[in-house]
Amino acid sequence: MVATDLTYRASEVEPFRWEGLDFFVKRDDLIDPRFSGNKLRKLYSLFKLPDHTLKRVVSYGGAQSNAMLSIAYLAAMKGWEFVYYAKKLPKWLERDPSGNLKRALELGMVLHQLEPRNFYEEIESIRKESGADELFVPQGGADPAAREGVVLLASEILEWARHSGYERFSVATPSGTGTTALYLREALPERVEVLTTPVVGDEETLFAQLRRLEPDAASLPKILFSFGKHPFAKPHPQFLKIWESLKGSGIEFDLVYAPKMWLELKTAYGRLPKPVVYVHSGGVSGNVSQLRQYSYRGIK
Ligand SMILES: *Cc1c(COP(=O)(O)O)cnc(C)c1O
Repeated sequence: MVATDLTYRASEVEPFRWEGLDFFVKRDDLIDPRFSGNKLRKLYSLFKLPDHTLKRVVSYGGAQSNAMLSIAYLAAMKGWEFVYYAKKLPKWLERDPSGNLKRALELGMVLHQLEPRNFYEEIESIRKESGADELFVPQGGADPAAREGVVLLASEILEWARHSGYERFSVATPSGTGTTALYLREALPERVEVLTTPVVGDEETLFAQLRRLEPDAASLPKILFSFGKHPFAKPHPQFLKIWESLKGSGIEFDLVYAPKMWLELKTAYGRLPKPVVYVHSGGVSGNVSQLRQYSYRGIK
């Protein structure tokens, strides 16, 4: 059974010292254990919909997606059906689902596997056919509906900064779809630097996604990109080392997005307006399956 309430409260901002450098971490990962930090922000407007307004939520994306699991919890709370499309799963995962996929299936998610060849065409026709009592959520929750929850996140950050006497400072968050970074940039004043790094593709991929989301955005987050392009969620020895060192410093982050952002922050630290506030966007529930990928590839 899934509790049907959500106690939404401002998340804490904690000082965090890592490899001799001082940061703050906004603990969005601790708002509600069921929801991956920024997915809760991005789905915030859906939480407020009365249960009876929808029958079904439809979405698509990766088989271990944090957004997928968050929508699965939301749908279970609301009594909505959740239909999710993913590319054909590898046999071992289909036989023995783990991590986010396992939990989402337990929550009642209906999974459909599609042939990878024309995946996005099929998704597009599914989107076009969605009915009035159905809500179609783009991959990773990349939708203007995400703005409302991210604006709330921005206002919490500003309130904390005002209280602590910080005028010019940096806010950092890694980008998948870039939705969180873009709406943070939009909601925070220019004196605050919003930093991100693409974890999917390169700078161009990220710019294209941001333009798709908001073609007329007045300003864009600042992109740090010294590490270069790396296939999404593919293990890298340096990521594991950073993740372990962060954990050793007292906070567990996700293993897919966070290491790349922290690596960039360390490289750019001397040039950044301080303090640097890192938004912890959760995703820790995916670490079990990601660690499996590391050990499968013999990276330790
Ligand atoms: C989804 C996710 C992101 C990326 O958020 P976007 O808004 O898609 O850029 C970053 N970190 C974690 C842990 C996530 O789960």
